[in-house]
Amino acid sequence: MQLLKYDVIILGSGIGGFTTAIHSSNLNKKAKIAIISKLHAMRSHSVSAEGGISGVLYPEINKDSEKLHAYDTIKGSDYLSDQDAVELLVKNAPKEIVFFEHLGVPWNRDQKGIIQERPFGGMSIPRTAFAADKTGFFMMRSLYDQVQSLPNVDIFHENFATKILRTKDAVGVFIIDLATGKHKVIYGSSLVIATGGFSRVYKITTTSHSTTGDGIALAYNAGASLKDVEFVQFHPTALVPNGILITEAARGEGGYLLNKDNERFMKRYASSKMELAPRDIISRAIITEINEGRGMKDPSSGLEYVYLDLRHLGKEIINKKLPMIKEICIKTIGLNPEEEPIPVRPAAHFTMGGINTDIDGRVLDIELNHINNLWAVGECGCVSVHGANRLGSNSLSQCSVWGRVVGKEVSKNTHDIKHDDLKELEKLAEEEELRLNVLFDKKGMYTAYELEDEMREVMEKHFYVYRNEKEMKKGLDILEKLLKKSTNLRIQDKSNIFNTNLRDTLEFINQIELAHAVAVAALNRKESRGAHSRTDYPKRDDRVWLKHTILAKDGSGIKINYSDVKITKWKPEERKY
Ligand SMILES: Cc1cc2nc3c(=O)[nH]c(=O)nc-3n(C[C@H](O)[C@H](O)[C@H](O)COP(=O)(O)OP(=O)(O)OC[C@H]3O[C@@H](n4cnc5c(N)ncnc54)[C@H](O)[C@@H]3O)c2cc1C
Repeated sequence: MQLLKYDVIILGSGIGGFTTAIHSSNLNKKAKIAIISKLHAMRSHSVSAEGGISGVLYPEINKDSEKLHAYDTIKGSDYLSDQDAVELLVKNAPKEIVFFEHLGVPWNRDQKGIIQERPFGGMSIPRTAFAADKTGFFMMRSLYDQVQSLPNVDIFHENFATKILRTKDAVGVFIIDLATGKHKVIYGSSLVIATGGFSRVYKITTTSHSTTGDGIALAYNAGASLKDVEFVQFHPTALVPNGILITEAARGEGGYLLNKDNERFMKRYASSKMELAPRDIISRAIITEINEGRGMKDPSSGLEYVYLDLRHLGKEIINKKLPMIKEICIKTIGLNPEEEPIPVRPAAHFTMGGINTDIDGRVLDIELNHINNLWAVGECGCVSVHGANRLGSNSLSQCSVWGRVVGKEVSKNTHDIKHDDLKELEKLAEEEELRLNVLFDKKGMYTAYELEDEMREVMEKHFYVYRNEKEMKKGLDILEKLLKKSTNLRIQDKSNIFNTNLRDTLEFINQIELAHAVAVAALNRKESRGAHSRTDYPKRDDRVWLKHTILAKDGSGIKINYSDVKITKWKPEERKY
């Protein structure tokens, strides 16, 4: 087994991971930095971000302010975000947009050359900068170019991490090189987990196939706590039947939501914001329309939907600002949005919860103590800016702002690894190698694929937009059985070269743990807040539940704890749009 020593190890090459690498490299040119990605870096999920990145660029021209951005974000979060973290986000987001400008992102501009900002759900003022509807792709391309030019950064593409190895003063990652099947350990002084969310635990999702929450599960197994994982965002407008995202920018540019009676039904649910209400509210509105018989049904998939109508925007706006949406509709379902309305329904899109971190991105255990040498950044980390419901375009700013914060932190945390720590890492690596060999050779009863299908059905049926105790208990019961079965798996493909069967099995083991954690946290929270909407507890209950859910592993079970929501300026109030 190869052992490679670096100072800073970054697990993940999306916008969170890449920005961390650039800032830590710039601040400490002597630090050796490794970026590890299970995909080619440019296939990281971030490339598919569409609509834009939030930040108050022109406060005077737009009559906007950081304070207003903060208020919108906190109200959007249903008052579960930590307000100190939100203040940090809104203060630094504009600087990050300019940083990307300098890296070469071709932001859309107006006639005077000013970066255009588009309206987004729950934002009072247009403050989302964009590069057509391919923002993530352009940001990633610029980051990738930059990272490649840094002499102290190495990228390990298509290297799959299976375990975090921790000793008192060192940290490492156990890796399978997917191209050869060979094992290696990359170790050093600091590990940053930047592995994205876990929306793939649902059957229908807008996210890429790789969004399986591996790093969150790895951290959970390494003693980290998880925060607020019951809050999964369902994006209101996923294309039917395939779940591909139709960006919120389509409504930002003026798209309408229509039911089967051709009615703009949002007037019943958010009369002032209409189609630009926050996502949790629109998703509930769509499902209510469907449940009350005002939806339509796709005959082939059986999925019910409403329409997103862009026809009145005209060809010029669609072609200039939403070209990818047009292409997606034509190529995947043969529908031209210039001529026909688009069938859409809510689908799992973003995970507000994740690895519990403090405001510096440092990973915390269940007692809220720092875990040495461990940070989390991007969607996998819960620094609590999104609370119970994220506002669209705030994720790319979160990834960028905390990429800088964590980059600075880890640039200072470089130290020699002592002989004893290295020996202990080697021992832990041998144990992990043994676990993998046993899994590889085992003639288990189940394949990951069959269990994964069941897990996704359960999540979709029992933990979707509306939840209740009876259904969640049934779902949790099935997930517990699946969790047990996940110790009895077989891998049919015995080759070493690009063994996707092995990779998928390891991803499933991670996902079932996270699905189980979501179920436990969702059943535990007896109120409705943001994306967690219970028909049996339909109201928000600040008296009991204005707190974060903290989970940690306890043998084969789960321990639950809570932490306070940080309120700085904005007292919780009724959320009306
Ligand atoms: C379709 C879509 C459009 C979106 N559009 C927007 C938008 O316009 N604006 C906005 O703010 N947000 C948007 N979001 C959300 C946003 O894209 C994500 O939250 C963000 O890109 C996540 O970035 P990240 O760096 O945290 O992780 P990711 O980009 O998901 O990257 C994860 C990285 O971790 C690596 N990794 C994972 N597991 C392992 C493992 N086991 N071993 C090794 N490497 C591993 C992967 O290879 C990858 O490099 C969108 C989401 C979707 C689904």
